[in-house]
Amino acid sequence: MPLAIVASRALSGIEAPEVTVEVHLGPGLPAFHIVGLPDAEVREAKDRVRAALNHTHFEFPARRITVNLAPADLPKDSSRLDLPIALGVLAASGQLAPESLAGCEFAGELSLTGEVREVRGALAMALQARSAGRAFILPAGNAPQAALAEGARILPVRSLLEVVAHLTREAPIAEYSASLRRSPFSYPDFDEVKGQQQVKRALEVAAAGGHSVLMVGPPGTGKSMLAARFPGILPPLSEAQALEVAAIQSVSSAGFEAAQWGTRPFRAPHHSASGAAMVGGGNLPRPGEISLAHHGVLFLDELPEFDRNVLEALREPLESGRISIARAARQAQFPARFQLLAAMNPCPCGHCGSAAGRCRCTPERIARYRGRVSGPLADRIDIKLEVPAPREAELIAPVAGEPTAEIRSRVVSAWALQFERQGKPNALLETREIDRHCATDRDGDRLLRHALARLLLSARAYHRVLRVARSVADLAGRTTIAAEHIAEAIQYRRLDASF
Ligand SMILES: [Zn+2]
Repeated sequence: MPLAIVASRALSGIEAPEVTVEVHLGPGLPAFHIVGLPDAEVREAKDRVRAALNHTHFEFPARRITVNLAPADLPKDSSRLDLPIALGVLAASGQLAPESLAGCEFAGELSLTGEVREVRGALAMALQARSAGRAFILPAGNAPQAALAEGARILPVRSLLEVVAHLTREAPIAEYSASLRRSPFSYPDFDEVKGQQQVKRALEVAAAGGHSVLMVGPPGTGKSMLAARFPGILPPLSEAQALEVAAIQSVSSAGFEAAQWGTRPFRAPHHSASGAAMVGGGNLPRPGEISLAHHGVLFLDELPEFDRNVLEALREPLESGRISIARAARQAQFPARFQLLAAMNPCPCGHCGSAAGRCRCTPERIARYRGRVSGPLADRIDIKLEVPAPREAELIAPVAGEPTAEIRSRVVSAWALQFERQGKPNALLETREIDRHCATDRDGDRLLRHALARLLLSARAYHRVLRVARSVADLAGRTTIAAEHIAEAIQYRRLDASF
C-alpha cells in the first residue's frame, strides 16, 4: 500500500513535540480521512489541502486517502499541519519521491491557492527541529523568528510549489541566514532619579538576590519610575534564557517582538487584568503576563486593587517558577520565574502618614485596604519598604543619582558569588540550604535572636531575613553574614506588622 511519512511538530506550552503525519492511499471509493483531529478541524484541513493541490495543478488522488496524525492527542490549532499533509498526499500518490521528505520537518498553513501562511510557535519548533538534526521548512514570515535558534537549518517558503521545487531539486531554497539578534534594549537610567537613596539601596539588594519587593508610599513619590529602572540593574540574560523568553513570546497572542531580543522582560499589567490575562489560558492555552515576565520583572502597581483570585494565583509560580493551565482534557505548562515588584499607597486616599495630615481614611478602611494583600502573598515578599515623598532639597539638588551601569556591576558580582556557592539566587534557597549557606558570625546571630524575640517573627520570616541578609553580605563581598547585614535585612521587614 502506498505510504508516505512526513515529520512536523505540535505545540504544547512552549514545547513543540514531534508529530508524524502518515498518509496511506488504499483501494476503495474515493475518500479523505484524517485521524487524530477534532471533526471541525478535519473538515477545514481537508478543504484547504484539496483546494491547494488542485489550484497548483497537482492531482488530488481519486483514492481512499487516510491521514494519521500521531500521537493522536494533539493541540487543536492544527492548521500548521496543512503543508505536511499535502506533501504526504503527493508522496503517497507518486507525485513526489517519498525519500525527498527525509531529513526535513515541515509546518505551514495552506491558503486555498497554495500559499504557505505563518504559524504560531516557530521558534519553539525550530529549537526542537535543531535538536532532532533536521532542516525546518516553514513559512517565510516565520523565518526571522525561527533563525534565533542558532545552528538550526531554516528553509523559508512562500508556496507549496516552492516546497516541491526544492524537494525535487529543481529550485533549491537557500538557508535563511539573517539574524534578528541585536543589542538588548536599554532601560531608563537610575541617574535620573534624585534622592530616594534608601529605596534604591533596597532595590539593589532585591536585584542582587532575586528578592520580591513591595513599595508602600503616597502617589507621586516615583514608585513606577523606580520600578521601570529596576530591570536595568539585573545582569544580562544568558543565551539560554534569551531563547526561553523569545519562545514564550512566540506562542503568545501578541507574538514575538524582535526588538526585545536579549532584553529582560518588564511587564506591568493593569490591576483590571483578568485571571486569564495574568496567568494564561484559553482553549489553546497561551502564556499570561506572569510567563511573559519569565526571567524578568512583573510589576504590579496598586497591588490591593488586583482581583483577589489573581493575587492568589501568583503563589504557585512564586514558589515553583512554573504555572500549569488546565483546559478540558489538555494541560499546558508555562515557565513563570519572574521577580515580583509591587507598589501600593499606604491607604485608600494615599496620604496616610504624610506630614500634611490630609488623610481622612478611618483605621478600619486602612486595615481592610492593607488586608487585601495580607496573608500568603505578603508572606512571600522578602522586602517591604516605605517610599517617602522626596524632600524638596533632594528635588532641586543638581546632583544626578548613581548610574544604572555602576549599580549593575555590583549586582553582577553578587550573582557570581551566589551561583558559584549554590547555583541559584538567594531568594530561591530552601530551608536546609539556608542552614548550609547562610552562616552568621556571633554578633549577627545574637542580633537575629534578639530581633526574633522582639518582632515575634515567624519561622518563615526568619528564613526570609536570612536570605536577604545573605544578599546584603554578597553585595559586600563577605563570606559570613555579620550583624550589619542582619540589621539591614530586618529593616526590610519593618512593615510586616501592618500586613
Ligand atoms: Zn488615607
